[in-house]
Amino acid sequence: MTGVHGGCHLCGAMVFCNHKRLICHDCQTLITPLPTFVINANKPLPLMVCGHYDTPFDHVMSAYKDHENLSALMVLYHLIRQLPQPNNLSYDNAVIIPTPTTKNRLIKRGFNPALTLAKYLSHHWQIPIFDIIKRTENTVHQRGLDRDERLQNVKNDFYITDYPTTRYVILFDDVVTTGATLTTIANLLTDKNPKQQLFAVGVLHGKAGLHLPIYQR
Ligand SMILES: [Zn+2]
Repeated sequence: MTGVHGGCHLCGAMVFCNHKRLICHDCQTLITPLPTFVINANKPLPLMVCGHYDTPFDHVMSAYKDHENLSALMVLYHLIRQLPQPNNLSYDNAVIIPTPTTKNRLIKRGFNPALTLAKYLSHHWQIPIFDIIKRTENTVHQRGLDRDERLQNVKNDFYITDYPTTRYVILFDDVVTTGATLTTIANLLTDKNPKQQLFAVGVLHGKAGLHLPIYQR
């Protein structure tokens, strides 16, 4: 017998299913992890993302980050759950480094959105978090800047408090637009240990056609 399990967390439609589903079948079809992109850092940085920063997921991300909407957080967890774990990466050879926020933003927002999502990825892949990148206060926001301007703007924003000794490192961010933040963090790590293999994971990335020229398929 088919049961009713409340509304889809994405569109609100009633979900009819034998098992509890977070989102309806129609919304599920919107979720397809995108192919791996490559960001140009000191060495190529493969980037895996769950979807475009586009409707409806841009609204979901905003509801989570700006309004602490738990339903939105559940949808983002659901997106992360679709990410296939890269071969050979496990708890004993990899760590996840989340993109940090600044102290002022943390106080203003009350939580660190990227860290919360990274914790779910850590649970999903069973790979520990290594929270060793810190961010200084920079009054110039990244929104509205192009890739070169962003790279310059963030270059001195990050510093590292410890170095991972694992073979693999996964850099994690909630939204990846030009990749300037991930590039800066990747370069901090490769400067110290060029042999370490880095991957990047983002939940969403900049709208197709708007920020894509940096990526090579
Ligand atoms: Zn739906």
